[in-house]
Amino acid sequence: MVRPFILIVEDEPALVTMLRYNLEAEGFRVEEAADGEEALIKIAEEAPDLILLDWMLPRLSGIEVCRQLRRRPEGRNLPIIMVTARGEEADRVRGLDVGADDYIAKPFSPKELLARIRAVLRRVRPALAAEILSCGPVTMDLATHKVLRDDREIHLGPTEFRLLRYFLEHPGRVLSRDQLLDGVWGHDVYVEQRTVDVHIRRLRKALNETDDADLIRTVRSAGYALDVTTG
Ligand code: CA
Repeated sequence: MVRPFILIVEDEPALVTMLRYNLEAEGFRVEEAADGEEALIKIAEEAPDLILLDWMLPRLSGIEVCRQLRRRPEGRNLPIIMVTARGEEADRVRGLDVGADDYIAKPFSPKELLARIRAVLRRVRPALAAEILSCGPVTMDLATHKVLRDDREIHLGPTEFRLLRYFLEHPGRVLSRDQLLDGVWGHDVYVEQRTVDVHIRRLRKALNETDDADLIRTVRSAGYALDVTTG
């Protein structure tokens, strides 16, 4: 599963930071462009799966970027969500007229934006909208909570599910018990470090039910890692 690639075209640094944070947390890969010309250059280098395009931009407006993209063969089908400070009906119509797939007015909540992004991706790129995490032989469907190792279904308790999800979001990385406690149990909960070991043991047992290779590597005195190379 490739992470969907989103290009943020926006000239307000604070908004870019907020968008990047929220999109990356949802598993998207993010690049940024601060004006219309930079956007066109970046898109020519690598086509994103979706563009978040601010209307009011230096050098080349969002509307103009959209218009130019729609005239190029490689830009004709690129999903575009126009972002604007102006929420009037006429602007909305104009945005959609030049070929934007959707339109969102500032201020908006990250939750609303993510819903719009998913909706556009579902329509335009169904394969990318599936909420699936995978690494090596392991696949996790976040919508149905189904976990597979190759074709075998893995049954996990809620904590083991969250633990595996955290590993899948950080493939190959060595995660300390403290990092796992923060990421899986949360900062506010007091849990002893050895609790992590207990749940790792359960997760391992579920994943390695048959004689498959162990996917979770113990790194002495450092923590655990989900092995990306083990088949
Ligand atoms: Ca702007």
